[in-house]
Amino acid sequence: MKRYRIATIPGDGIGKEVVPAGQRLMAAVAKAMDSFAFEFENFDWGGDYYRRFGVMMPEDGLDALRDKDAILFGSAGDPDIPDHVTLWGLRLRICQGFDQYANVRPTRLLPGIESPLRHCRIEDLNWVIVRENSEGEYSGIGGRVHQGHPIEVASDVTVLTRPGVERILRYAFRLAQSRRRKQLTVVTKSNAQRHAMVMWDQIAREIAREFPDVSCDKELVDAMTVRMVSRPASLDTVVATNLHADILSDLAAALAGSLGIAPTANIDPERRYPSMFEPIHGSAFDIMGKGIANPIGTFWSVAMLLDHLGEADAARRVMSAVEYATATPALHTRDLGGSATTEQVTAAVCERIRSGAEPPYALSVGA
Ligand code: NAD
Ligand code: MN
Repeated sequence: MKRYRIATIPGDGIGKEVVPAGQRLMAAVAKAMDSFAFEFENFDWGGDYYRRFGVMMPEDGLDALRDKDAILFGSAGDPDIPDHVTLWGLRLRICQGFDQYANVRPTRLLPGIESPLRHCRIEDLNWVIVRENSEGEYSGIGGRVHQGHPIEVASDVTVLTRPGVERILRYAFRLAQSRRRKQLTVVTKSNAQRHAMVMWDQIAREIAREFPDVSCDKELVDAMTVRMVSRPASLDTVVATNLHADILSDLAAALAGSLGIAPTANIDPERRYPSMFEPIHGSAFDIMGKGIANPIGTFWSVAMLLDHLGEADAARRVMSAVEYATATPALHTRDLGGSATTEQVTAAVCERIRSGAEPPYALSVGA
């Protein structure tokens, strides 16, 4: 029997509620499949760890993760610690330390979920946004000096490298090629950012030649927000820089009904290091500790994790149970206008996995 070593890092806020739920689901699906098993190791890193030790994770923390097959992550963000400290101290340290340069964010309108877009049908909204996850606007290069003085200055430098751009575009073209529509939209802002984004556009044209079967178009990021709202069906796979895709994928999550549903994967496509899977939402200070967080974003992330491990059947089974949950109004949490608890949704989804009920819906994890 195959054994996968999984690191769980709940982190902060509702991460501590949804990651244990995700772990329960993983245990349930392994039991139901009976062809592989999970070995979990839990890491108590995050805000509480920071209060005790002054750092979000230990100095040699990456070494403890290095030999894992995948990481299930919750959220980094604590009401009492500045966001840039929690984010850079934990999540970005793992993403950058393991060169997880492709951040993949599927968005679909799941059955039973209402989009804020009028007349939006399930088939109109089926996107994957590929976010460059290692450089760009979040390169970390910049500085701040003369704090508090009239001459105070601060900068964050956007850095795009040719290898960095080539590898993310190639990844996005390949992903687009694997999907039914074989269509990629390259998001840019080369009218205003006339150095880095012009190189981005140029490299996109070069890589496009390697993929003659993928149709490719270009959209300015501001126009892209309009297109997502007014012509959702015109999009399929999307690739954008770190900042642009960060913003667009939150919009995508909102258009698909709720931030509580949306998953993401931080992938090292070369598989030199473990990849990391997480819901896209944060710590949700307003509802943490109440047991009402929607675990569906974490469950969909688990489906992506299974897919990454090559367990496509298990991934489909999880996705089917997720679609069953969204199609059942009694299993809607507050963010979806319902009153179900994290526990109720988790128990129902795990039971669905156990009972092996036939998948009622058209299935796909992200593709
Ligand atoms: P958030 O995602 O935590 O919350 C935004 C809103 O969505 C809140 O009203 C929240 O209640 C709701 N929401 C989010 N997830 C939900 C779920 N699963 N079920 C039900 N409702 C849900 O975003 P924020 O308020 O901007 O950020 C809070 C903290 O989280 C900040 O410290 C931020 O830095 C951090 N954060 C971390 C990550 C990450 O680690 N990947 C991502 C985003 C935000
Ligand atoms: Mn974000």
